[in-house]
Amino acid sequence: MKNLTVGVIGGGAAGMMAAVMAARQGARVTILERNDRVGKKILMTGNGKCNLGNMELSAQAYHGAEADWIAGRLRAFDVDDMIRFFQGIGLLIKEKNGYLYPASEQASTVLDVLRFELKSLGVSIVSGCRVDGIERLSDGRIRISGGRREFWFDRAVIACGGMAAAKTGSDGSGYVLAGQLGHSLVPTVPALVQLRCKEEFFRAVAGVRTEAHIAVLSGGKCVTSERGELQFTEYGISGIPVFQLSRTVAYLLREQREVPVHIRLLPDYQREDLELLLINRLILMGDRTVEEFFTGVLHKKLMQLFVKTVGLKGTQPVEQAEKRLLSKVLELCWDWEVTVTGTNSYDSAQVSAGGVPCSEVTEDLESKKAPGVFFAGEILDVDGRCGGYNLQWAWTSGYLAGEAAARR
Ligand SMILES: Cc1cc2nc3c(=O)[nH]c(=O)nc-3n(C[C@H](O)[C@H](O)[C@H](O)COP(=O)(O)OP(=O)(O)OC[C@H]3O[C@@H](n4cnc5c(N)ncnc54)[C@H](O)[C@@H]3O)c2cc1C
Repeated sequence: MKNLTVGVIGGGAAGMMAAVMAARQGARVTILERNDRVGKKILMTGNGKCNLGNMELSAQAYHGAEADWIAGRLRAFDVDDMIRFFQGIGLLIKEKNGYLYPASEQASTVLDVLRFELKSLGVSIVSGCRVDGIERLSDGRIRISGGRREFWFDRAVIACGGMAAAKTGSDGSGYVLAGQLGHSLVPTVPALVQLRCKEEFFRAVAGVRTEAHIAVLSGGKCVTSERGELQFTEYGISGIPVFQLSRTVAYLLREQREVPVHIRLLPDYQREDLELLLINRLILMGDRTVEEFFTGVLHKKLMQLFVKTVGLKGTQPVEQAEKRLLSKVLELCWDWEVTVTGTNSYDSAQVSAGGVPCSEVTEDLESKKAPGVFFAGEILDVDGRCGGYNLQWAWTSGYLAGEAAARR
């Protein structure tokens, strides 16, 4: 019997995984990749170390599709399957607080073992081929075009990624291909990205890193919150907790111009502790200047900013300062509202939220609009938290799409 032919559009993490799986089923597989080589984005992941998965894998780490649907997909190829797969192609994996990395701590080795596996399975790679057209023919075959080139396959997998870090190749053209097949699109926003704020004082605290609890408010209610190391930049806020809630903020910003974010810089204190803190300091340090009085509470630059914000002078003696204003400084440490007006662009984002709705694909990730075409990776409306979840989704969805595409 003639081997099935499978064309994989996009040689990123998901596309390479799909190609390996389809080839292992006996299909003749071709990857069409617009860059001069596959897997460019993998090299950037985890600061060059590639956080390729997480032992705490669960559907709760993902947004977009329904949690039950995502959980079902993850069960088919979970973190243990992922570890077994990579060990099987030669990669030793190590764990750090649940985060999984190649033992080499080099993202390039993850790409290398995938490339070697593609080679030994005989997968063809057509590089420098930016696909711009896809059509399901009446005989069920799939016609794919890129520039002046045309290809025909029995099955196709679209794994073009989203729009994050376009310099790695994912420029959103996969959404156009999905549209040509009749798919709709859940609006996309940059996610796992820095937030830009309205206030001008950020320049004064740029570079400061501190533990904090951050809450996003909408209609006066907290819609999401995170705790972790917050980083201040010249234009706003960054750091893992900011990344984690950035997709929620980005979607809110589509509906409103500003999003209030509340920062608690003393996350282990309760509001009622503040009064006692002030009284104790007044007893012990009441003879100091205002700046000296607050030294040791928070990072110096933040304290200086808060002292100025409430209208006190750092050099004035505490005994001449209004107690109400001293108390206000501590209030700011506990609940400081900043105004987010935007996110950084897709170029700075790690992923795109939104994409092809999962309701438009089957459990095997086959298009309900164009049978024979499958989707894998970030192009689908699934985005994960920081911590290896996005690559896990690429591996899981690549596995599912590749295996199913090669099935008769
Ligand atoms: C800086 C950075 C760090 C990250 N770190 C981590 C991390 O440590 N852990 C983690 O889990 N996730 C991380 N991510 C996210 C993760 O890398 C992505 O979610 C994942 O790589 C998506 O895989 P994908 O195969 O769906 O898409 P991509 O990796 O974007 O691959 C898509 C491929 O398709 C090609 N392509 C696109 N359009 C076309 C076209 N029209 N024709 C032909 N080819 C096309 C592209 O060139 C590209 O090779 C990081 C992302 C970034 C940007």
